[in-house]
Amino acid sequence: MKNGPRRMFVVPEPRPGTASVFVSNSAPVFAGEGDISYMCGGCGTVLIAFVAQDQIQGLIFKCPTCGVYNQIERPELDLTRQLKRPN
Ligand SMILES: [Zn+2]
Repeated sequence: MKNGPRRMFVVPEPRPGTASVFVSNSAPVFAGEGDISYMCGGCGTVLIAFVAQDQIQGLIFKCPTCGVYNQIERPELDLTRQLKRPN
């Protein structure tokens, strides 16, 4: 039985040469033979179909539907930390 798709984290556009970015004109951007699927954190389109988690670790996927960049790891840049800076 296949699990439902997981939602990815939306990240800023990476600077050229700093990340491996998968871009495609249509979804899914990437398909494999695992049992996990991931959807765009912006619009919910399934971008990655049936992969093993370690297949896509450290990669970034551009959504062909809404144009945002996604990754499966929680982004290192924690915006809430900046808002809660101690006095
Ligand atoms: Zn999207």
